[in-house]
Amino acid sequence: MNYYSLNKQSPSVSFSEATILGQAPDKGLYFPEIIPQVDKDLIENIEHISNEEIAYRVIKPYIGNEIPDEELFRIVSETVNFEIPLVPINESISSLELFHGPTLAFKDVGARFMSRCLSDFIKNGISTSLNTSVQHPSTSLRVVVLVATSGDTGGAVANGFYNVDGVEVVILYPSGKVSSVQEKQLTTLGKNIHALEVNGTFDDCQQLVKQAFADEALNKELFLTSANSINVARWLPQQFYYFFAYKQWKERGASPIICVPSGNFGNICAGILAHISGLPVQHFIAACNTNDTVPQFMLTQSYQPKSAVATISNAMDVGNPSNFIRILELFHHQFPQLKEKLSAYSITDDETKTTMKRVYDEYGYILDPHGAVGYLALEKYLQTHPSSKGMILETAHPVKFYDVVEPVLNQTIEFPPSVQQIINLQKQSTIINTNYQQLTEFLMEL
Ligand SMILES: *Cc1c(COP(=O)(O)O)cnc(C)c1O
Repeated sequence: MNYYSLNKQSPSVSFSEATILGQAPDKGLYFPEIIPQVDKDLIENIEHISNEEIAYRVIKPYIGNEIPDEELFRIVSETVNFEIPLVPINESISSLELFHGPTLAFKDVGARFMSRCLSDFIKNGISTSLNTSVQHPSTSLRVVVLVATSGDTGGAVANGFYNVDGVEVVILYPSGKVSSVQEKQLTTLGKNIHALEVNGTFDDCQQLVKQAFADEALNKELFLTSANSINVARWLPQQFYYFFAYKQWKERGASPIICVPSGNFGNICAGILAHISGLPVQHFIAACNTNDTVPQFMLTQSYQPKSAVATISNAMDVGNPSNFIRILELFHHQFPQLKEKLSAYSITDDETKTTMKRVYDEYGYILDPHGAVGYLALEKYLQTHPSSKGMILETAHPVKFYDVVEPVLNQTIEFPPSVQQIINLQKQSTIINTNYQQLTEFLMEL
């Protein structure tokens, strides 16, 4: 499979090149040249197929022969080796719990897959993975994975890459705007994991990262790559759990409405990709907090990026979602087709809190703030489609946001063992301003 740049100014590349480069030299996102179709058998007999096998069959066409079959099977098996249950909340809404992985968030799936692929390519020598058509001078240098996080990416990437030979990981996060559990997850590992605490917003962090990738002088010194959701090796494996959800979906006559709490729109974009590849889904809902760039676009057809606003569902505080362009590409930039498959809602913090409280009181189910945004968006949609049923993707464990959830529910949430281990460790971070010079100095001293 080859991948082209959505800016169309750079040559197409293989899967390994797209993984190593992250972003195309023309700053475009990579996109598969063909959308493969899954076997009918996979859908019809899905209840009898193991998760490893489903994941393998879904991802194989995207990798081709770039990773040997056995190795690829091992990678997907390690990627999905935790449970992903579909739990009913009430008659019409279920929750696909994506938070049973090592850092209690759905990003574990993409980060685990990507780190294992990249580690494989590094072992085989990066220069052999890079096609000569892409000019990249620094193939003999150490690989630095550079990531901006609004909360959950940092922990998942840190965990996925921890102790991986030959890779340094640098994580930029907005100071004071991630939860204390999230902060501990990305600042307490040490070794090859470095946390930069930025006095600014997530968009500032993302801007600094973009600037580093565009900096030719810096890229002669370091081999920079990204592990953000723009990387195809993080984006594509997120399709897996949409198939696992369908495997557990009991209403065989009617396919589900799937509601995805969305920030950078990588997760929902993977779901739409799975659907276009043959997975039955009736409709997708993008649930946003007050950062409503996409809900506004769906109303006006005019895309107006904004500055991010801080909310209690902070992993979705994104004013210019980078993956939305891939969704437009999936629909060939045809708005009517997009509108038929996708609705978007914007939910306020007050509504999010009331929803967490109401769902807990009525059904005894504890939602995290992101899941609560999803729940209310789905409920709003179902009010106008009363015969449909659906699911939310519960993207994080409520304990990651205990500072928000506990006072709302008036209830303490127990830390799972993975959190208990880190909560009392000392954070190790380097504080920087939104000053590019400070970032490059740090990188050069690694
Ligand atoms: C990252 C994240 C999101 C947003 O996912 P995108 O793929 O960026 O849209 C939603 N919820 C949680 C908990 C997250 O960590």
